[in-house]
Amino acid sequence: MTFKSINPYTQETIAEYPAHTAAEIEKKMQDGWKAFASLRQTAVEQRAAWMLQAAALLKNNATEHGSLISREMGKTLKEAKAEVLKCAATAEYYAEHIQPMLEPRLIASDGRKSYAAFEAKGIVLAIMPWNFPYWQVFRFAIPNILAGNTVILKHASNVSGCGLAIEKLFREAGFPEGVFQAVLVSSKEMEPLIADARVQGVTLTGSTPAGKSVGQLAGKYIKKSVLELGGSDPFVVLRDADLIEAAKTAVKARMQNAGQSCIAAKRWIVEKAVADDFIQQVQSIITSLKQGDPFAADTDTGPMARPDLAEELEKQMEKSIGQGAQLLAGGERNGCNFTPALLTGVKPGMTAFEEETFGPLAAVTIADDEGAAIRLANQTAFGLGSSLWTRDLEKATRLATLIDSGNVFINAMVRSDARLPFGGVKQSGYGRELSLEGVHEFLNIKTVYVQ
Ligand code: NDP
Repeated sequence: MTFKSINPYTQETIAEYPAHTAAEIEKKMQDGWKAFASLRQTAVEQRAAWMLQAAALLKNNATEHGSLISREMGKTLKEAKAEVLKCAATAEYYAEHIQPMLEPRLIASDGRKSYAAFEAKGIVLAIMPWNFPYWQVFRFAIPNILAGNTVILKHASNVSGCGLAIEKLFREAGFPEGVFQAVLVSSKEMEPLIADARVQGVTLTGSTPAGKSVGQLAGKYIKKSVLELGGSDPFVVLRDADLIEAAKTAVKARMQNAGQSCIAAKRWIVEKAVADDFIQQVQSIITSLKQGDPFAADTDTGPMARPDLAEELEKQMEKSIGQGAQLLAGGERNGCNFTPALLTGVKPGMTAFEEETFGPLAAVTIADDEGAAIRLANQTAFGLGSSLWTRDLEKATRLATLIDSGNVFINAMVRSDARLPFGGVKQSGYGRELSLEGVHEFLNIKTVYVQ
């Protein structure tokens, strides 16, 4: 079996990678376990020094890494370079801040001394998607490696080159062999990896069906799991919002990365009083976006990552139109290219409201009032992020408590930030990445009690 990397814009095959054999995978497991034995004993200052070196390599070679991302999955070079630099900044942030996050927490008890220690456990298997092929990997790997775990990455089949480039980068940064390794293996062959005793946990970012399958296997073999799955994030615009800012941000939050983001603003829920004005503004921005060659400096949105994904989005759009929605802009597909589209009149029950739409398709739903807007926001199986727009911050913080999602951003688009915990509720998954909560997910929280 081989994995093909195909440039979504040109449809050229860029490279073919043979799958690793069972013997090669076993060697990687052995190397990962050996590396764990040494990494857990290595001073955190040394791990941080290597991580800073990884950050420097990312920064110094941002164009090269960015070009690889653009070639393999189609996002614009501007977006790809920004992604690489975000990984570098996160590596620097955790190199500086990891130490206190790993310090034992003293807890008063009837003993002489008692505390919770945070200790690395072994290899963590990371199953990652193609949409942010560097960021999703680094977001997980940086805190875990700094904490002493080692990582085996199974990257999405269309971005094998990115997986191998990240492995090389960690080695060049000075990390011992085996600390970070990419395996080229089919997603149908995950069971032996998850079952392996050296693998102490599994994290997956991807679709809900993939999450269900990995979550089941993790349960079968009693492995800790973190699932960061799809979303259908509401972007709620209330009557007292700054409409100009809200419209600009809504388009960015939906269309960046050609709409292929778990936290994209997929359902725009707008209070009736300002709906016409908001629609007019977003329509004008969306029609001005240039879709096309990811390497051209004036391109706003590149192609989607695979033809099947673009076809699926087209079907969802057409179904929604058949159910009564109106198409006000875009929606033309040619291979992986899909022009940024705007649907209005979207209601519960329609495909664009009920399903995750993973591409450049914005959907406007009108809410009679604030209460209806919050009800519509929650009327979804997902619960990853949500964005809420109003000038009344007291009202915003009150409403934030009523929204069922892992993140609520007020007057801003949802994003993952190195300093803040990130993850979802409901069908968007469980567990957290980043911040103290994310750092501790794959650690042994060991109670030590001294009589
Ligand atoms: P998948 O969820 O299928 O892929 C994500 C990762 O999971 C890949 O590494 C994939 O490997 C792996 N995977 C898939 N199925 C399994 C499985 N049964 N067991 C173990 N690993 C598995 O996403 P797709 O690329 O197929 O995209 C389909 C949809 O998923 C999108 O339209 C979008 O809705 C959602 N998605 C959400 C993402 C997010 O950030 N939340 C990211 C990407 C997709 P392989 O590539 O080898 O199949």
